[in-house]
Amino acid sequence: MKRIALYPGSFDPLTRGHINIVERGTRIFDEVVVSVAHNLSKKTTFTLEERLEILKETFRDHSKVRVDYFDGLLVNYARTLGTNILLRGLRTVSDFEYELRMALANKSLSPELETVFMVTESDYGHISSSLIKEIVSLGGSAADMVPKLVEEKLRGKLLRNLREAKRPL
Ligand code: ADP
Repeated sequence: MKRIALYPGSFDPLTRGHINIVERGTRIFDEVVVSVAHNLSKKTTFTLEERLEILKETFRDHSKVRVDYFDGLLVNYARTLGTNILLRGLRTVSDFEYELRMALANKSLSPELETVFMVTESDYGHISSSLIKEIVSLGGSAADMVPKLVEEKLRGKLLRNLREAKRPL
C-alpha cells in the first residue's frame, strides 16, 4: 500500500525550512501531500491561490510531491486522502508545545491518525515565515531562507504595503 504523508501548513510563504521537510519526507514516504490550510479567519500575506502557485512551481519536478489545499477539519481531510500520517516539523521548544497540543487534539478526534515529527536541520532552524516577512518588510534580504520566486513576490508585496503606509493622506 502506498504510504502517503500529509504535510499541512500555512506556507505564508513557503520557506527553505518547509522545502527541507518535504524533500526529506519523500525519502521516507511514497508521496508527500503538501496542503495549504485555507483558514478564512486567519489573515495571511499571500492569498490561497498565490501560496498554491508558489508550491506548484517549487515542486514542479518532484514526482513524489502533490500540492493541494483544504478547509475545515484536518482529520476529515486526511480521511478523504486515505492517509493516517501527518508530517510536521519541529524547530524549537515552543514549536514542540504547540505541535504536541495539535497532535493530541487530532488524535482525540481521529485515533488512527499518527503525527510524525521531523526535526529541522541546523541550517534551517532559525527560518520561519514570520521572520522572513519582517526582514523583507524592513528592506533586508531573505534570499538564503526562501526560494527566489518567493523573495521576489514578497518584496513586491511588502514593499508596496510600506510605500502605501508612508503615503501622506
Ligand atoms: P502552521 O501555521 O500550520 O504552523 P507553517 O507554514 O508555519 O504552518 O508550518 C508548517 C509546518 O512546518 C509546522 O509543523 C512547522 O513547525 C514546520 N516548519 C516551519 N518552518 C520550519 C523549519 N524551518 N524547519 C522545520 N520545520 C519547519
